[in-house]
Amino acid sequence: MLNNQRFFWKIFGGYLLIIIILTLLLLTITLRVVENHYVNSLSRSLEKLNISVVPQIIPLIVNSNDEDLDNFIKETGRKLDTRLTVIGADGKVLADSENDPAEMENHGYRGEIKEALSGSRGQYIRFSKTMQRKMLYIASAIEYQGDNIAVMRSSLYLADIDTLLRELRSKIFRISAFVIGLALIGALVYSRSLVRPINMITEASRNIAAGNFKTRVLLKGSKDFESLANAFNRMSEQLNHSFTELEIQRDELRTIIASIQGGLLVLDAKGKVLLYNDGMTSIATEAIEKGKYYWEVFRDTTFLAIIEKTQKDKNGMTQELESGSNTFLCNVNYLKANSETVCVLYDITEIKNLQKVKKDFVINVSHELRTPLTAMKGFIETLEEELPQEHKHYLGIIEKHTNRLINIVNDLLVLSEAEDRPALVIEDIQLRDFRENIMRIFEPQAIEKGLVFSWSNPDNITKIRGDVFKLEQVLINLIDNAFKYTETGTVTIAVKRDRLHNIIEVSDTGIGIPVDQQSRIFERFYTVDKSRSRRLGGTGLGLSISKHIVHLHNGEIDIESLPGKGTKFIIRLPINLS
Ligand code: ADP
Repeated sequence: MLNNQRFFWKIFGGYLLIIIILTLLLLTITLRVVENHYVNSLSRSLEKLNISVVPQIIPLIVNSNDEDLDNFIKETGRKLDTRLTVIGADGKVLADSENDPAEMENHGYRGEIKEALSGSRGQYIRFSKTMQRKMLYIASAIEYQGDNIAVMRSSLYLADIDTLLRELRSKIFRISAFVIGLALIGALVYSRSLVRPINMITEASRNIAAGNFKTRVLLKGSKDFESLANAFNRMSEQLNHSFTELEIQRDELRTIIASIQGGLLVLDAKGKVLLYNDGMTSIATEAIEKGKYYWEVFRDTTFLAIIEKTQKDKNGMTQELESGSNTFLCNVNYLKANSETVCVLYDITEIKNLQKVKKDFVINVSHELRTPLTAMKGFIETLEEELPQEHKHYLGIIEKHTNRLINIVNDLLVLSEAEDRPALVIEDIQLRDFRENIMRIFEPQAIEKGLVFSWSNPDNITKIRGDVFKLEQVLINLIDNAFKYTETGTVTIAVKRDRLHNIIEVSDTGIGIPVDQQSRIFERFYTVDKSRSRRLGGTGLGLSISKHIVHLHNGEIDIESLPGKGTKFIIRLPINLS
């Protein structure tokens, strides 16, 4: 309301100021014009008077008949009720209707006399020392035979003009006051009519700001205000519509979020809870509330660390989370646009349990199979010596399959161990010893198959970091495959280094792997050619084990291969492994 008052006073005050300034201006100009007009018409009358008197006094001046001249001037001045003065060309007063010219000072220096003698009309308003009053002087030169012999000056008291002007001024003031009064009333009414709709719109805006979108403004009268009110009403209608739609969408979103099986949590840039659903309560220590900081609600150190890291790196991450007897997959993402963090929690306890059951089963079966298989192998070897030659062929087949079974059982146990994320013994591996071990294992195979087997590494790479036994296992798997699937050419191991990684490449010139199968060969039991793999004693687990071991080292394993040309496996291990 205070603002509206101020607005009213701004408009009304503006009008007030303009009216007062205009009236004062008008008043001043009018008075000035009237005064000028009055003085001018008086001047003209005095000039005419001068002209009519001059012919009668020329002879008196020429004959230096000063006494007659003075008498004539006094007589005429009295008749015309005007002060008349005759001044000689030398400035000496020759006659004056009011005073004794002999007592009057020289008038030669007075402006009107100087102007009249120089040929123009001398007009002056001045305070007369002689008369002790403000007077209007009009002086005209008296010409005789081409010379200005004297000046005829008539003058009037301006007291009359002042009285007249005073009267005029008071009349104009009264009229002005009346006009101002009227204008003020008009301005008051107009200002009120301007402020009233603005008040209404302000009030309506306040209502809308308070959430009352049904508010409407009704303004009649001025076309401008009517269209403003219409625009306002359209705006509030639109707002109402958008808000209703927003509410519906928000309800829908709420329902969707509530019905999500997993947990959902959205944090603002400061880490305060913006949005959450019930699924999130499973890892919360305190009741989740909008506006609370996430660390006030969650105490799980892994969860807190994931959020902190995501906010710091401004990059999403996924990690498993143990909470009580449950396991969760926690996916946290950072929304760069508004610096928000979105956490999604999936309960994977059942999947984990199933995996564990499966793994336990595999380990148990493998262990159970190991003893009878070892016994069978022993008996086969014993039988081999005692059996007649014609049956040895069948025994050979039994031995081959037994060996394959033993390999599978062993590989399954290794894979289960690798999947259990065992602790690695990370150390500096001396490349020379490492290389010698590997070369010793495969040299006989290289000679037997007639393949060139070589190892190259630059002199400056003398060691790499990793678990020596596990990496040896990886290389044995890869090189064993290279020999298995290469008939002619070379099997090469190359050690390299980039800024962040030690790189080991195992290349061969063998049969290669079709591009569409390359992404699958790291899967368990996956083989490109089943019968060939089986024939060569493969289990389909070697690459799976290798991948797990490389991942345990936080490394990566990639493949480049062309069918018929050869295959290259590239292992990248972080240099600063700890
Ligand atoms: P396997 O015991 O059968 O060799 P792996 O897991 O070690 O099992 O390899 C999976 C499959 O990948 C193999 O069966 C084979 O088809 C293919 N493979 C692996 N290494 C090579 C290689 N160097 N050259 C061609 N194929 C290969």
